[in-house]
Amino acid sequence: MPTEKPRNIVQEGMAQRGAAMETAGQLTAPLDVRAACRSEAVEAGDVPLAALPRCRDMAPDGGQLAYRVRFFESQGVQPLAAEVHIEAVLALECARCRQTVDTPVASASQIRFVFSEDQAEHVETESEPVILGREGRLRLLDLLEDEVLMAVPLMPVHDWRCAEIAAGQAYESGALAEPPDEERENPFAALAALKKDPGGDR
Ligand SMILES: [Zn+2]
Repeated sequence: MPTEKPRNIVQEGMAQRGAAMETAGQLTAPLDVRAACRSEAVEAGDVPLAALPRCRDMAPDGGQLAYRVRFFESQGVQPLAAEVHIEAVLALECARCRQTVDTPVASASQIRFVFSEDQAEHVETESEPVILGREGRLRLLDLLEDEVLMAVPLMPVHDWRCAEIAAGQAYESGALAEPPDEERENPFAALAALKKDPGGDR
């Protein structure tokens, strides 16, 4: 995971932060899950990835998370349920060359809301348990962060042979010494010598 960013990217991020906080504010308000399921509420929109604290390190400059959460009452033992769709492009560290690789992620999950660890163990296998606090409230932000983190691939890599190309770029970064100037001038010297050659086609 990238830990440091060039300074200019950080500053651009600051300019966007105002709007980001407004959207994040709506996502941090505790939501009454039971009421949301009963009324089949749908929460959908786009939020800057930088506004999700646990996903900030994976946010490309200006990166957005598109989400749709549909609450409903299921027929099962745990009736409080939701369907969560997320879609985003994450700036991850390539497992091969260690450079940033923009990785599209998308997921659709079935959630069952429960009130204890014990109840969580009895949730249907195709669903993910989410344990609610005593008051049955949830911050959408926490739910969306969890979904993004679960969607991160284990071994993100560039879809081209990045490691070999990265070795070639080592000249530019100064990691490898450049060939001496004299060698590089040799072809020009040879050309100059040809031009001076009086035995041409004149
Ligand atoms: Zn790579």
